[in-house]
Amino acid sequence: MIVAMQSGATREEIRAVCEVIQQSGMKAVEIPGGDRVAVGVASAIPPDLRPVLTERLSALPGVDRVTQVSRAYKLASREFHPTDTVVECSGVRIGGREVVLIAGPCAVENPDQMARAARAVREGGARIMRGGPFKPRTSPYSFQGLGEEGVRLLVDAARAEGLLTICEVMDEGDVEKCAEVDILQIGARNMQNFRLLMAVGRSGKPVLLKRGPVATIDEWLLSAEYILCQDNPNVVLCERGVHPVDRTYTRYTLDVAAVQVAKHLSHLPVVVDPSHAAGDWRYVSALARAGVAVGADGIMVEVHPDPAAALCDGPQALRPETFHRLADDLRAVAEAVGRSIL
Ligand code: PEP
Ligand code: MN
Repeated sequence: MIVAMQSGATREEIRAVCEVIQQSGMKAVEIPGGDRVAVGVASAIPPDLRPVLTERLSALPGVDRVTQVSRAYKLASREFHPTDTVVECSGVRIGGREVVLIAGPCAVENPDQMARAARAVREGGARIMRGGPFKPRTSPYSFQGLGEEGVRLLVDAARAEGLLTICEVMDEGDVEKCAEVDILQIGARNMQNFRLLMAVGRSGKPVLLKRGPVATIDEWLLSAEYILCQDNPNVVLCERGVHPVDRTYTRYTLDVAAVQVAKHLSHLPVVVDPSHAAGDWRYVSALARAGVAVGADGIMVEVHPDPAAALCDGPQALRPETFHRLADDLRAVAEAVGRSIL
């Protein structure tokens, strides 16, 4: 619910609106805007309270009109927060003019693999290194990741090259194990693991939230809302492909339009992951270029020093030299759409 004040409404009138909202047990947030202020109700409004509150607020002096925000998410919506959010992490800004590259192997495997991957990632101009210590695998017999030891290897390899780190957490316990990791990732399979969303929200760290392969855009943004309402504004959305019509040649279907739709509905930055969408290294570069062209604020790709030996997602991993070529191509695309890449 948004309460638009009349132009010239007094401070007392604005305060009275906030008080009525707070007395009803909800949080009020003032939204400045030119000569007209609005007050947003930053909590879920119980359905039975909605009409009563609307009537009370509409009757207050200085109130122009009370609008229902029809969308179920609020903190994630652009209506509530019209300007783009820039998620800042140790000097790297996601959501600004620069398109941020995130790269690294699917899974953390060993120190040599990580050192070689980190060098390749840094040489290509990526700012953030990825690598999974906790792997969500379809089969319980597949490599599950190195766990805490993997976190150590990721952090050490990335720091040696001056890179920030991101990795997926699969449960609340993983969040504590990732104290030294800069950005936490919620994987596609966990997009609606609500307790996990609240736990990463409470961590206060930036969170990259992948879209589930069968999730609607509204469901994705509601998941973002779970993190945001823990007073953690540092959420980055990630489109990584939705369930495909034809799985013969690609793993998922990159929903290119969803990048623009998400940016239209929400102020949060959006990253594109072409690797999991394609599932085949041959198509990764083209999809990454499409991601930058359609307005992504970052591109996350899987890079492995020796894809044939990878323990996870080898077929979609780029070799270092392919990644470097891609990074150069992305610079050209970024420039064409008024953006830049390191
Ligand atoms: C990953 O990034 O390694 C991963 C498992 O991706 P997703 O959750 O998109 O499948
Ligand atoms: Mn992977």
